[in-house]
Amino acid sequence: MNTYDLIIIGGGPAGYLAAERASEGGLKTLLFEKRNLGGVCLNEGCIPTKSLLNSAKIYTKADHGEIYGVVADGLQLRHEKVIARKNKVVKILVSGVKTKMKQGGVEVVRGDAAIKGRSDAGFLVTAEGADYCGRQLLIAAGSRPILPPISGLEDGIKSGFIVTSREILDIETVPEKLAIVGGGVIGLEMADYFNTAGAEVTVVEMMDKIAGPFDEEISGMLEENLSKRGIVFHLGSRVTGFSGGSLQFEKGGRQEDLKADKILLSIGRRPSTNGLGLETLGIFTEKGAIQTDKTMQTNIPGVYAAGDVNGVSMLAHTAYREAEVAVSNILGSKDVMRYDVIPAVIYTTPETASVGETEETAREKGYRFAVKKLPMAFVGRFVAENERPDGVCKALVEEGTDRLLGVQIIGSYASEIILSAGVMIESGLPLASLKKIVFAHPTVGEIIREVMFS
Ligand code: FAD
Repeated sequence: MNTYDLIIIGGGPAGYLAAERASEGGLKTLLFEKRNLGGVCLNEGCIPTKSLLNSAKIYTKADHGEIYGVVADGLQLRHEKVIARKNKVVKILVSGVKTKMKQGGVEVVRGDAAIKGRSDAGFLVTAEGADYCGRQLLIAAGSRPILPPISGLEDGIKSGFIVTSREILDIETVPEKLAIVGGGVIGLEMADYFNTAGAEVTVVEMMDKIAGPFDEEISGMLEENLSKRGIVFHLGSRVTGFSGGSLQFEKGGRQEDLKADKILLSIGRRPSTNGLGLETLGIFTEKGAIQTDKTMQTNIPGVYAAGDVNGVSMLAHTAYREAEVAVSNILGSKDVMRYDVIPAVIYTTPETASVGETEETAREKGYRFAVKKLPMAFVGRFVAENERPDGVCKALVEEGTDRLLGVQIIGSYASEIILSAGVMIESGLPLASLKKIVFAHPTVGEIIREVMFS
């Protein structure tokens, strides 16, 4: 039986980045992947959705082109071409990961891996009938969509009437009526794309607001923007069943029936831990999520977990950082994971981004803070590029320390601008020092500087 310094289960962002770092650090590394290298992120998550949304953004800009002096006759969004390009992008990036693994000397085995126990030499893992031994183990098995026990769901999925985020990215035709269960990030991004592609989109959300933990005011503005584009929202609505080309939901004590040609179920994801053999080592889980300490080590010394499988943040950039922390500790240098400055983005039009505390979380944590807020129209580039300059940037500043606690943005480029806010929060510097940073002009990012001076 071959013995490795490190065995990694799962080739998504957490797994492939860990493999890269581990082999750079001189570890003999084996990576198992049962589907496709790149995981959910590259194959059916971050990248394909952004490819679709980019087409939607180009279309929307061109559709309003006349305002900007650009006239496009016969403008069309050709869904099949959008999907073909998405597939091309995925292929390029997945093959990039394959090349990195090869060049880094990482051994990749395609197969469904499970832990079998341990021997004197290390941890035993089995896949496709062969056994392997790793001195250390990193579990990066990711997550899968939550499928709640709602009547009619199983039949709906079997018939293809109900799909998850995986299948919707490959549907060949745009449904006339698309119902989306769940107004979180995935639901909203798909609502944006399919609305632009011509579907009549209705979102049914259990909470009283969209966009989950995003700042309430910003979520409200996003809802208003998307509603203006024709997306219908039923908030405070609980889906009770699916049957005969429709879904049933309860809203304010009333039972409603919504006809649809296709239903996207996007109510969240849960860690993929079934069948991993965690019980053979006695690895602690809570509600299926692998429990780790700040070094990403589980309760079993030498066994680490990173990415969606620990259920903490479920974002690709969190997965990357957790993987780095795990590998640093495996290589013997102390590193710890922090979750307080992780950006979150919704890539709709308009984009929405947040980092650090929101007003709600800052209040819950007992911070004393001031809210600084400016319309995005305070920066020239935003006005130059947006005919109706609608958008806001909010910054929370702690009283006493004068530190930035959080920033929320709604408006174009929010996904790119949020990085600078994250760096500022991470620096822990007071506003007096941050104000001395010079921003390129004209950039939409200047809003961060403006809001600090407001
Ligand atoms: P995964 O990417 O899920 O990879 C885990 C891998 O492990 C999979 O490839 C799986 O096949 C493999 N595996 C599992 N079990 C085994 C086994 N027993 N043996 C062998 N292999 C196994 N995040 C963002 O940050 N930004 C976004 O814009 C964004 N958009 C998203 C859009 C959608 C539609 C979805 C679904 C998710 C999105 N996410 C986004 C979330 C992001 O995709 C995940 O956070 C990220 O992929 C987690 O990485 P991971 O390595 O933990 O797991």
